[in-house]
Amino acid sequence: MPSKVYFLNDRANSLQESTPFKAVKVLRDAGLKTLFKKGDTVGIKLHMGEYGNSLNLRPQWIGSIVEEVKRLGGKPVVIDCNTIVFSDYGSRVVTKDHLRSVSRHGFNEETLGCPIWICDGEYGFDDVEVKVPHGVYLKHSFMGKKLLELDAVIVVSHFKGHPMGVYGGALKNIGIGMGSKRGKLTTHYLNHPDYGINKLGLNQEAATQLAQMPHPNPLDRLISGCPFDAYEWKDEQLQFYRDKCVNCGACFSGALFAGILAMKPEITATWAPTIADAASAYINAIGKEKFIYVSYAMDITPWCDCINFHDKPLIPNMGVFASKDLVAVDMACIEMSEEKSGMADSQATEFGFAEPGSERFTNVSSMAKVSQWSQINAAVYNGLGSSDYVLVESEPADEEDFWFPPYRPDNVLGKVLREELRSGDYDPGDYAFEFPKQSLADLHTKPPGKVEEISILDEEEYDEEH
Ligand code: SF4
Repeated sequence: MPSKVYFLNDRANSLQESTPFKAVKVLRDAGLKTLFKKGDTVGIKLHMGEYGNSLNLRPQWIGSIVEEVKRLGGKPVVIDCNTIVFSDYGSRVVTKDHLRSVSRHGFNEETLGCPIWICDGEYGFDDVEVKVPHGVYLKHSFMGKKLLELDAVIVVSHFKGHPMGVYGGALKNIGIGMGSKRGKLTTHYLNHPDYGINKLGLNQEAATQLAQMPHPNPLDRLISGCPFDAYEWKDEQLQFYRDKCVNCGACFSGALFAGILAMKPEITATWAPTIADAASAYINAIGKEKFIYVSYAMDITPWCDCINFHDKPLIPNMGVFASKDLVAVDMACIEMSEEKSGMADSQATEFGFAEPGSERFTNVSSMAKVSQWSQINAAVYNGLGSSDYVLVESEPADEEDFWFPPYRPDNVLGKVLREELRSGDYDPGDYAFEFPKQSLADLHTKPPGKVEEISILDEEEYDEEH
């Protein structure tokens, strides 16, 4: 029997149709109530966004789910793991920075109403090795150890494109997001014995050109940024001491984008399916029956929230999906996104993939033009779920379920705050003119606007001329 995916679209005309409450409703429909018992610790897995990105999930989209878990008697905790080093100023590489950066995005204990656990320890090394039962590429991976303390997991994902995974949804939220540093390196194949960073070719010409640039140039940063001193500028050449390199990943993106290291083509094809392999290992370790998935298909940007910026969304917002089957929930998001036209002035139109039915994530999001079906097919092979699904259109819940607490129909605001509301002065005095000073015709007429468009580089000249 096909899996069921519950859905509410992004239109709204009332409180219960507000985005965070739609997520609660589709989760209810998908069976949240039976996922855990009273007193259970319920992990809410999310990606809170790299510093600089501003289209990650919103705290209020999570707060509603925290409230629902509490209403059902569970003990909610927001969970994530640290990242590998993928820039010279990554914001979530160690727990201290991670909590600081996500607090800038509005995620902290006070705003969420529950604690945040970064589950792989202070530096991302507190992990456990877990087997991939039926992997395409991987035999095992590594997950944050504290994840094993959870009684149930609600995987809350932001559906969008991804440069390495091709698209990012529920599978990626687990396959990358529950991995420790070692797990994430494994999933990206960066520590592979044959294809890993240690084995990549060195471009001396690019290094020599960078060495001529003003300091600190990208070469200086590469050398000083290796925690294991594997690089040195010596005899007018970049030395790479491969015996010192432990494939920690810290130099990968810097060296790649500077053209110093050349990536092997064998690596790129693995990125999407290894996400499914790793997800399978982590889910198996916790227990498949303990998971439920909800995906916000909103702000569907070309790249992931782990990037420190975002481009314009490729397609319009779609809505909120939930299921007990993570393959089905991702498949439903991809298929609906395929039905949409690309947004004007987005990369979808820029690269010629605005028409419905074009494989937009394959052609626009993927760095290596890997198929958007690769993650899904690997997940089905792993036995994680089914790409066959029935899309069930949910109905919004009752409005009173989502009144701002503590107000209830039997305890309305005017009653609760009676004394406070009686305590102030409501007399506004004589504050309005008897007749308006501008006619309605004047108020409704478009005033003059842009006179000219200039570059800031021409600003001085423009000011002198005017
Ligand atoms: S060269 Fe250094 S920074 Fe790069 S992967 Fe190896 S140990 Fe890490």
